[in-house]
Amino acid sequence: MSVRTRADLDQLPAYVAGRTVPGSIKLASNEVSEGPLPSAVAAINQAATEVHRYPDMGVGRLTEALAAHYRVEPERIAVGCGSVALCEQLVQATCTAADEVIFPWRSFEAYPIITQVVGAKQVRVPLTGEHALDLEAMLAAITPATRLMFVCTPNNPTGTLLRKAELDAFLDRVPEDVLVVLDEAYFEFVSDPDAPDGVEIARERSNVASMRTFSKAYGLAGLRVGYAIAPPEVAAALRKVIIPFSVNALAQVAAIASLEAQDELRKRCANVVAERERVHRELLALGYEVPETQANFVWLPLGDRTADFNEHCLQNRVVVRAFVGEGARVTIGQPEENDAFLAAARSFTRVA
Ligand code: PMP
Repeated sequence: MSVRTRADLDQLPAYVAGRTVPGSIKLASNEVSEGPLPSAVAAINQAATEVHRYPDMGVGRLTEALAAHYRVEPERIAVGCGSVALCEQLVQATCTAADEVIFPWRSFEAYPIITQVVGAKQVRVPLTGEHALDLEAMLAAITPATRLMFVCTPNNPTGTLLRKAELDAFLDRVPEDVLVVLDEAYFEFVSDPDAPDGVEIARERSNVASMRTFSKAYGLAGLRVGYAIAPPEVAAALRKVIIPFSVNALAQVAAIASLEAQDELRKRCANVVAERERVHRELLALGYEVPETQANFVWLPLGDRTADFNEHCLQNRVVVRAFVGEGARVTIGQPEENDAFLAAARSFTRVA
């Protein structure tokens, strides 16, 4: 007799992380390449001598800081070990077996994995021909078994944004007993004045949560800290299903320090936005199809040419994130990193 693990795990897709290749530029994981904010590093250093103690399990000070920053009651906030952990907590908190989770596809690759691990049923709704979320089709997919919908805006990996008016019209038509999670991992990079603010919407509607992270714009991906702003009963449920102490002590202090450095954050995001626009423009000039993006990455829907493009970039010491057969997602880095990528993209058009 041997140990038996769940048979359905054989069908579980693997999460593919962006690769680090020594000597190459990594533009594969939507990180900011400038590093964490200096005040966050100082806070981590200071807290380092206390890591023999368990962290604050209730994440009190960070919750208070988020509540003050967003002007919401602390009861509406749940902090998690990265927003990916919150995704899982959201499914755990709303679904039992046979309940349905609707999400766009392609989108954040953790949605199907997490839904299957928790044991709920996944309902994937294809993107439109313009690589955007198909809200009509997502509405049509709702059944009495639907408990949760993930709405990723800007969408990973395509970068496309939902406008406030279309999101509001969509939310008006979602039944009130279905929780809509606005996954706003890339919110800080959005520059479109017609963009929705998920936190504002979550304050106004009883079935909407906004989920954000310190991994991207704030540069704390390695520490694992994200948060949801949700109706109080949803936030309470998220706190119930969390793995105890999973938001570590260094993450808590670094997040508080980062939140206090808004001026610096804004400057960094403005640099990313300017570089994003430059990279987008230059790719279009080279003849690539590139959807409008509001995140810190661009999407190249290269279809069958994706594997070759990926290989060509690797040979030119640039690591991108390839979704074979679909396209490549390329993170916006520092100007010289983007130049290296653009040079690779330029030479690919000559060999392809
Ligand atoms: N949501 C989206 C759309 C993402 O792209 C990511 C990271 N790739 C996450 C959530 C999770 O981020 P983290 O767990 O680092 O907060």
